Amino acid sequence: MIDSSRNRWLRKATTLLRPLLTNGGHPCAPQTLVVRVGSPRPDEVEWDGLFYEATPVYPAHIVLSRSLVDSHHVLRVLLHELCHFATESECQAHGNAFRNAARAIGLRSKHNEPTAWTTPTPSLHRALERILHKLGPYPQEK
Ligand SMILES: [Zn+2]
Repeated sequence: MIDSSRNRWLRKATTLLRPLLTNGGHPCAPQTLVVRVGSPRPDEVEWDGLFYEATPVYPAHIVLSRSLVDSHHVLRVLLHELCHFATESECQAHGNAFRNAARAIGLRSKHNEPTAWTTPTPSLHRALERILHKLGPYPQEK
């Protein structure tokens, strides 16, 4: 199953990305986090990644779109969602807490994509390259 190998890759990636947030002064809460691939429902607009805060019943959740294929892009979207997790900020809400965490680790927002926050600074780009080297490529559908 492609999903389970992707889910394993995403869990490993999350472990390797967490220190970036800690070093940026925004450690992720120790609470359980579920990371997996998923697809937008038919009534939803297309998304690359979503973050759901923990509820009394469900742990916090990050879902990355099944349509993502590029390893580097997947890491950047995952890191973006981890900023939501670290700052307990709602998905789509890129307020001060989110932006401070994203900036601290080197994520930027391009002028033509003011809501994306997935563009890395050169030093974050190099850190992600090192992480990808450990992870290997994101599993692809054959
Ligand atoms: Zn976001």
